[in-house]
Amino acid sequence: MPPTATLDDIKAHQERVEKDKITADNLPPCPRCFVESLFFKIHAYRERRFLIIIEMLIKAAYCSLVRFKCPGCGKTFTHYPDFAIPHKHYTRPTVTGFSAGYVESDSMTYQQVVMVDSSVPGYPQKDATLAPSTIHRWITTIGQFPGTCRAALRLLLQENPITSICRDLARLIIPQRKYKTNHRKKQLICCRQLLIIEAFFQATFKTSIFTKLATRCGFS
Ligand SMILES: [Zn+2]
Repeated sequence: MPPTATLDDIKAHQERVEKDKITADNLPPCPRCFVESLFFKIHAYRERRFLIIIEMLIKAAYCSLVRFKCPGCGKTFTHYPDFAIPHKHYTRPTVTGFSAGYVESDSMTYQQVVMVDSSVPGYPQKDATLAPSTIHRWITTIGQFPGTCRAALRLLLQENPITSICRDLARLIIPQRKYKTNHRKKQLICCRQLLIIEAFFQATFKTSIFTKLATRCGFS
């Protein structure tokens, strides 16, 4: 089975939005003016299209995301449900699962990593399947969150100063055949780091980095 959020996950989020259960209370303060998140106001609801994989078929599912506004400086933030990654239509399990398949393996190529049980998830109306270049792009996106990585690591260390995570992060190596430039090497390492931090984060806070750090999820 390919990693993916389910239709039920997306419907459950829509229900929480409709019942006003999404609040800004657990978000960090505004990074611009430091107003506490409990003072954030709901600014807008945006319908978002997500792509989930059902029995090897890539299908669209829709739900609303809540945007909050800081009353101090007017900056707006998107609340990301646990299954979402900023700027991506595919869900977090899909993006992180396929990306991990590539960056955590010494030998896997992009062509191999899209295969699930000897076939590739496909689009129902088109004669197309999940492209190897899509995984390359996902890793680029995840590799562009070093600020988010650092903020998440700080929270983890505050919660558990003796965690072994720093040792795990320091040990990371990317095989040389996976990059041609130093820039790409940095993205691959940042991607691997974020995936490790995310696993610790889920175990510690029972939520995704992108949900808890919504005010810090700009590219940095
Ligand atoms: Zn502010």
